[in-house]
Amino acid sequence: MTSRCVYVGRFQPPHCGHLHVIKWALQYCDELIIVVGSAQESYTLKNPFTAGERLEMLRLALADEGLDISRFWLIPLQDIAMNSVWVRYLEVNLPKFDKAVSRNPLVVKLFQDYGYEVLVPPAYKREVCSGTRIRQLMLSNDSRWEKLVTPSVAKYIKQIGGVERIILLAHGD
Ligand code: NAP
Repeated sequence: MTSRCVYVGRFQPPHCGHLHVIKWALQYCDELIIVVGSAQESYTLKNPFTAGERLEMLRLALADEGLDISRFWLIPLQDIAMNSVWVRYLEVNLPKFDKAVSRNPLVVKLFQDYGYEVLVPPAYKREVCSGTRIRQLMLSNDSRWEKLVTPSVAKYIKQIGGVERIILLAHGD
């Protein structure tokens, strides 16, 4: 029987920390369901990229890392107002999963309350490999962000005008 783990993130954008978690998680399951959470969010400073863009970036990142795409499910999911039933919402929207992977304390607690084992990955270069830091670097037009994502993801973000978008969002209104 195929074992599956589920890993939920916002992936704004997918970066070196996420990739480290993904590779770590593959040791513990045959397949990994990567949920692009907060799919309804985009064009804000905290969530600049659309769910579709984040899915594209994840595929590019997995390919850049030479990972076998057949081991992944990439699924966008909107948030819901009731945390207490969020895991049930995942159960009905995702392929069956056995375990969860997360470092987010709320996410860990919600899965545990439904009886799931949660695998907590080690932090990887937490001060550097962070979505918040990457978005701040982009906002400052500081090209160091490019080294924190894979080459194809950096190219994609430039193609869609991601840096200009973040600067516009900061100075809009
Ligand atoms: P994220 O910032 O993209 O992070 C995803 C995961 O990767 C987290 O566990 C995070 O750990 C880990 N990570 C990031 N950088 C890392 C590094 N350098 N080394 C090791 N691990 C690293 O996304 P998130 O905010 O946790 O995403 C949770 C999603 O679940 C959101 O979309 C949220 O809205 C959704 N959610 C929804 C509901 C609901 O709808 N009611 C309820 C719960 C959660 P850290 O936490 O340590 O950064």
